[in-house]
Amino acid sequence: MPHLLDTAAAGFDQQFRSLLSAKREDAEDVGAAVDNIIADVRDRGDAALIELTARYDGLDVTPQTLRIPPEEIAAAAATVSADDRAALTLAASRVRAYHARQMPRDESFTDPEGATLGWRWTPVDAAGLYVPGGQASYPSSVLMNAVPARVAGVGRLVVCVPAPGGQLNPLVLAACQIAGVDEVYRIGGAQAIAALAYGTATVPAVDKITGPGNAYVAAAKARVFGRVGIDMIAGPSEVVIIADGTANPEWLALDLLAQAEHDADAQSILLTPDAEFARSVAAEVDRLLPGLPRAAIAGASWRDHGAIVVTRDLAEAAELSNRLAPEHLEICTDDPDAVAARIRHAGAIFLGGWTPEAAGDYVSGPNHVLPTARSARFSSGLSVMDFLKRTTISRLTPAALAAIGPAAVRLAEAEGLGAHARSVAARIAQHAGQGARS
Ligand code: NAD
Repeated sequence: MPHLLDTAAAGFDQQFRSLLSAKREDAEDVGAAVDNIIADVRDRGDAALIELTARYDGLDVTPQTLRIPPEEIAAAAATVSADDRAALTLAASRVRAYHARQMPRDESFTDPEGATLGWRWTPVDAAGLYVPGGQASYPSSVLMNAVPARVAGVGRLVVCVPAPGGQLNPLVLAACQIAGVDEVYRIGGAQAIAALAYGTATVPAVDKITGPGNAYVAAAKARVFGRVGIDMIAGPSEVVIIADGTANPEWLALDLLAQAEHDADAQSILLTPDAEFARSVAAEVDRLLPGLPRAAIAGASWRDHGAIVVTRDLAEAAELSNRLAPEHLEICTDDPDAVAARIRHAGAIFLGGWTPEAAGDYVSGPNHVLPTARSARFSSGLSVMDFLKRTTISRLTPAALAAIGPAAVRLAEAEGLGAHARSVAARIAQHAGQGARS
């Protein structure tokens, strides 16, 4: 049974705190294993990749077959049905259109002292996209990572995807083709992240690594951060639904189960002020769960981490949601905008009964790579910004330096940095000597 809670009941605060702090990730300590894998790939390059791929993915590769050649990608993509290809193409074009609107503008302005200041955005030269492939395959994740990178103008796009036992879903390769990925390697786990960060003879290093993965992938990304950029450390997926009695209980039960079927560690929570509606949704979950293809996973997630909370009103539901800072938030109420106005922390908000989160996973357009484990308090989902850097630009005229430079001289002297002070003062003196003509 999931936790059935009522905010008016004694002990609710403690129950809710335990829901907030429930550690849902695998408790197994993967750190030491990942340290060894990264060191091995750094030291021995391709030889380590080949051994680790045999050990963890049961796949024999050589330096020549680590990379999937373009002909093999094209051949696999050609086996994809026309309907599947059309769906991928629609998803890619909607994700592309959404992310194109995110592109930030360069700025330049001249202030009253005559300083021309601004910034400009440039893409990273090379990005590595990790596509998980241990238990299942995720063509949608290829699109959600590769399309924003392409929109941002990344020069070289690399995908690493494990192919356990040699198996690779042709849809993943078709998605790579549609998104314009340049190189695909059949390597996974911490060894793929190490290869992308440090480079090997076969896998040239990249500047930024994005994409979800299991605990080994997440731990490896955390360890190579600094050497390369990373997007985030993603944990198990989660959804919060705020609903009133106007919502459809069957639809919401399916939405809760859609999240739960991702992973036994996923979390689905319904917040509603309507106790009768809460009972209807719980009954619908019980009715629908056994018929799902992934009933075992969804059932474990719902049993261990699911919750239905009856709140005093929608304002209290919004406040609890802010404390959860969920990756996904569905608002299915009579006036979803009024509830959304109270939300401060959520990775993605889905408004109204006709906006299932599952549509956002594939085709709505916004990114499905989102902050988990309450990190929406301080971070955002994947966007073109993850593939761009900002460089500031300044140009001072002699008059501008004469106007603002004395303060720099003063501060440099206060910090004991004599060359700094003289570097500015020498120019101011020269300008004064020229009679301040400029
Ligand atoms: P994966 O590709 O992340 O991991 C497979 C790799 O893990 C293997 O290649 C192997 O190298 C490594 N590995 C496995 N056991 C190991 C061991 N004992 N020691 C060292 N390395 C080991 O695939 P997965 O396992 O299926 O996990 C995918 C994860 O990504 C899931 O948790 C899924 O929910 C998540 N995911 C998240 C999103 C998102 O957008 N947030 C999208 C898709 C998938």
